[in-house]
Amino acid sequence: MSISKATVYDCLVIGAGLAGLIAARNLHRLGHNVLVIEAQERLGGRMYGKYLPSGQWIDQGGQWVGSTHARFLALLDEYGVRRFPTPGEGQKVLMFEGKRYEFNGFFQGLPEGERPSVSEEEWCDAMQAWNCFEALAKTLPPGHPQRNDQNQKLDSKTFAQWIEENTKTAFGSWYFAYMARAVGFLGPEEPNQVSLLHVLWGQNCAPQSEHPEAELLHGGAGQIPEKIAAELGDRIHLGEPVLRIIQDPATLTVETTKGRFTAQFAIVAMPPHLAGRIIYDPPMPSVREQLTQRVPMGCCAKLLISYERPFWREKGLAGIGLGNCQWIELCADSSDPETGVGVIATFVVGDRYRSWRPMSEDERRQAVLSDLVIYFGDQALSPSTYDEVDWPGEPWAGGGYAAFMPPGVWTSFGEALTAPVGLIYWAGTEMAARWPGFFEGAIQTGEETAEEISKLL
Ligand SMILES: Cc1cc2nc3c(=O)[nH]c(=O)nc-3n(C[C@H](O)[C@H](O)[C@H](O)COP(=O)(O)OP(=O)(O)OC[C@H]3O[C@@H](n4cnc5c(N)ncnc54)[C@H](O)[C@@H]3O)c2cc1C
Repeated sequence: MSISKATVYDCLVIGAGLAGLIAARNLHRLGHNVLVIEAQERLGGRMYGKYLPSGQWIDQGGQWVGSTHARFLALLDEYGVRRFPTPGEGQKVLMFEGKRYEFNGFFQGLPEGERPSVSEEEWCDAMQAWNCFEALAKTLPPGHPQRNDQNQKLDSKTFAQWIEENTKTAFGSWYFAYMARAVGFLGPEEPNQVSLLHVLWGQNCAPQSEHPEAELLHGGAGQIPEKIAAELGDRIHLGEPVLRIIQDPATLTVETTKGRFTAQFAIVAMPPHLAGRIIYDPPMPSVREQLTQRVPMGCCAKLLISYERPFWREKGLAGIGLGNCQWIELCADSSDPETGVGVIATFVVGDRYRSWRPMSEDERRQAVLSDLVIYFGDQALSPSTYDEVDWPGEPWAGGGYAAFMPPGVWTSFGEALTAPVGLIYWAGTEMAARWPGFFEGAIQTGEETAEEISKLL
């Protein structure tokens, strides 16, 4: 079917990230007339990747999938995308205050297996605080945090304040701060910027104990947007930012840099701060307007460094490093066993990012590689390729992995996060009640908004 601009679409989907593509695909499958409008010249938003000359793929956005990401796993099965366990055999490395600990366990959220041999006092401090943290998280009812007395108290504190009050050792304190700078739903950002309520809520709906980084995809996650888009054919416009949405009681008109489109409904599928940049006529209700001024994106650069082979395995290392090094607090082996190439995925986050980003390209690369040497040895200095993705500098993301809530936002403005406004519905991982900040959350909101709108058409 050829689509003319005179068409009144059933639904316009704004944003061709995972949430928008799923919403559009599902509406299209139900026989509705949809058009996706995307600002960038490419699909996928925070889900994109590329192939290196060696034949190895890298994901510049998200890459891992967890065993309870049911919707994402179903999507991978549907499109025949094969998975493999995230490489992790061998010793993990913890660097803390310049000391090196090798251990064979899992260490993000509640530790599993062997623990690093930091002192008993340090370990017990972290674990005791962890038990308090988990118990506090369990007192929250399911769903998005509502405004009530308990939540308002929790929302008035930063995660940093809670860490200060509940840990006694430098290690205990770092352990929780590291979580804020590593885990999906926390931005990532420094713990002094995140609401305690937000952290506790995320612990319930996106827990690390469910291993969200359990598997990787042969060919990478970046291949998926094209597969979904194939079903939509020419119902996707790329390179066409949406500027304005005008609603009257019966229809809405979307103005882009290239034209105008009319529809019965629209799904705005992007992080809240980008949704807030669109001009709305009539304007958004005040609580929604104020919300979108207050939901920042996480602050991280993603680095993908490839080597001829995963040399760290020859030393019995897993390729997983964590610790309070100058730049790199977390790095992970992301090598596809079918290519034989070694790939380390790593991040520079929060305050570290803000000191690192203004350096020259060469200095940034040296800084990252020097920290990898601390984790994995001198061979880390000689990569085959080095790729840097500056997420806060990406105009159509403004940060990554995802948005997070600073103190006071959930309880003062949270009600406006998902509430439709007239004919406009909101999708995107930030709106998800389960696995926000992950692909899984994006799919959930795409599916749910499509279902809601389909019932109204
Ligand atoms: C570095 C990094 C690592 C990550 N790692 C993982 C991981 O391992 N596993 C995991 O599950 N998740 C991970 N994530 C998170 C995951 O990538 C996101 O949750 C998911 O891709 C978000 O999809 P979305 O559709 O909600 O939003 P987006 O992908 O942000 O899509 C929004 C789209 O809207 C478009 N847009 C914005 N404004 C306009 C406008 N005015 N007009 C038209 N279009 C517009 C944007 O260009 C974009 O394409 C990671 C993210 C990053 C950045």
